[in-house]
Amino acid sequence: METDIKIAQNTEELPIQEIAEKIGLNKDEIELYGSDKAKITWKALNEKRANSKLGKLILVTSISPTPAGEGKSTITIGLGDAFRNQLHKNAMIALREPSMGPVFGLKGGATGGGYAQIIPMEDINLHFTGDMHALTSAIDTLAALVDNYLYQDNSLNLDPNKILLKRGIDVNDRSLRKITVGQGSRFNGVEHESSFAITVANELMAILCLATDIDDLKKRIGDMLVGYSTDNKPIFVKDLGFEGAIAALLSTALKPNLVQTLEHTPALVHGGPFANIAHGANSVIATNFALHVSDYVLTEAGFGADLGGQKFMDFVSKHLDKRPDAVAVVATVRALKYQSEKTTDNLDQENIAALEDGFGNLKRHMENMARYGLPVLVLINRFATDTPAEIARLKELVQEDGFDCEVVSYHDQGSKGGIKAAEKLVSLADQGGEFKPLYNEDDDLQTKIEKIAKNIYHAGDIEYSDKALSQLEEIKKMGKDKLPVIIAKTQASFTDDKKQLGAPENFTLHVKNLALKNGARFIVVSTGHILDMPGLPKHPAALDIDVDNNGKISGLF
Ligand code: ADP
Repeated sequence: METDIKIAQNTEELPIQEIAEKIGLNKDEIELYGSDKAKITWKALNEKRANSKLGKLILVTSISPTPAGEGKSTITIGLGDAFRNQLHKNAMIALREPSMGPVFGLKGGATGGGYAQIIPMEDINLHFTGDMHALTSAIDTLAALVDNYLYQDNSLNLDPNKILLKRGIDVNDRSLRKITVGQGSRFNGVEHESSFAITVANELMAILCLATDIDDLKKRIGDMLVGYSTDNKPIFVKDLGFEGAIAALLSTALKPNLVQTLEHTPALVHGGPFANIAHGANSVIATNFALHVSDYVLTEAGFGADLGGQKFMDFVSKHLDKRPDAVAVVATVRALKYQSEKTTDNLDQENIAALEDGFGNLKRHMENMARYGLPVLVLINRFATDTPAEIARLKELVQEDGFDCEVVSYHDQGSKGGIKAAEKLVSLADQGGEFKPLYNEDDDLQTKIEKIAKNIYHAGDIEYSDKALSQLEEIKKMGKDKLPVIIAKTQASFTDDKKQLGAPENFTLHVKNLALKNGARFIVVSTGHILDMPGLPKHPAALDIDVDNNGKISGLF
C-alpha cells in the first residue's frame, strides 16, 4: 500500500466551495484559505446555530493505545465517509487540529491514514490556517506583557516567583521545560524562573475550544489566573488589562476550519488540546455548528476512553447543544496484545493467549463508556497482520461481555471498509440513550477526583502530595473547588504509571499538582510523572521529512 502522504497527494480535491455547499453554506459564508481550506464566517456560525435543528452526535474513543495510535481519527473519517457516501446521510466530521510538535517526533499523523484521511494533510499537519501560530503568539505575548508589567509598574506587587502562566511553543522541546528569564543587567527585565508548555497544553488552547463567541473568549482570557502577589492575593489577566489584546490575537483562530476527506465529506478541524494533559476534544464552536448543519456528527476524543472519553462525557459535552447519542470504542488486535504480559516484542505475530490476557483493558473501557447510559459499539480496526483466528476470538470476547462489535477496514478500503458498522451506528444514534454523568456538578474537588479514579480507573485510593494539598486549600479559599476536573495522566495505563498495563485494580493514584484554570473553568489534576512539554525521540520523524524544489513535501507519514 502507498504511504498516507502519497495517497493524499494523488487524490483530486474538490474546491472548498463545493464542500461548503454540501452543508448548506454559500460562498459568502466561508472565508477562503487557498482553494481547499476555509473558515466559517461569524454570520454563518450565528445564523445556523440559531436554528433549532440538531443532528445526532457520535463519539469515537478507544482502548488504551499503543504509542502508534489505534486508528480513532482514521475510523472517525472512515465512518463519516461511509455515512455520507454509502448510506447517503447528511453527515459531517469534527476533529482536532494536529499539534505540529509531535509531527516531527514520533511517526503517525493526526489526519487519519490510508484511504480514510482529511486533506490537504501536509497543510493540516503543519501550518494549516495559522490557528496554532496565533495561539503560540497569544501565549507568548501574554507572558511578555506580564514580564513587562513586573519591570515597568508592578503596583499590584505580583511576585515573580508566584507566576503561574507558562510560555508556549508548538514544538517538542524538552530543554524549555525549565528556564530563567531576565538574566543579565536590570534592563533585561526581572529575573525569575519560567517554563514552556507545548501550545496545545496551554489554558488559551482550552479557552479557544470552549469559548462560544468573541465576548466569551475575552471574558475567559480576563479570568485567567496570572499568579499571586507577594501577600498571596490572586492576580487575574483582567487586573492587568491584557484580555482585549489577547482576544484580538485569537479572534480569527476562533472561527472553525472547513476541509474535506479523500471522499469529499465535509470536515471541521478546529482546536487541538491533548487528552492526557488537557481536555482532548476539538472546539465546542465547531461541534455545535456541525450539529446544526448536519444530521450526524462524528467526533473523536483523544487517547483512550479513560482520558478523552471520560472528559468528553463529563466536561466537554456539557458545553455542547446536546450530549452524545452513541459511542464507538475502537480496538485493535495489536493494542490488546500490547496490554498483556504474555506478549512478545513482535505485535504482528499471532498470539491468542496475549489477546485474551489483554482483553481486560478493552472490557473496562467498553463498560466505562456504557455506564454513561449511551449505546456502545466496539469497532475492531483491522490491520493486515491480524490473523482470522485473532479477529474471531476478539469478536467472541466482546460479544461474551454483552457488547456488539464490527470489524472495519476503512484504512485499506475507504468508506466501503465498514458499511455495516456505519448502519449499526446510525441506528444506535437514532435510538440514543439517557445520559448519566459520573459526578454531580456540586461535588467538591476531591469527590470528583475520587469518582473518576475509582469508577473509571479502578484505583483503590488516592494519595495527595503536600503541594497538592496546599493548592487544594488555596483553591477552596478562592471558592473554586466545585469546578470540573481534568485529570492529567499517562495514556498508556489506567494507573499513573505507564508500565502498568492491562486492567490493574486497587492501585494508588498519586495526585502531584492541582492547577486552577480559571478562564477555562476547570482544575487540572496532574498525576504520576506527566509532562506538559514532550521531548523528541532518538530518531525523530523529522529525519524522514523532506521537500523538493516544487514545494512537494515527502516523508510526512
Ligand atoms: P489515533 O487517532 O487513534 O491516534 P490514527 O487514526 O491517527 O490513530 O492512526 C494512527 C496511525 O495508524 C496512522 O498512521 C494510520 O495511518 C495508521 N493506521 C490506522 N489504522 C490502520 C490500519 N487499519 N492499518 C494500517 N495502519 C493503520
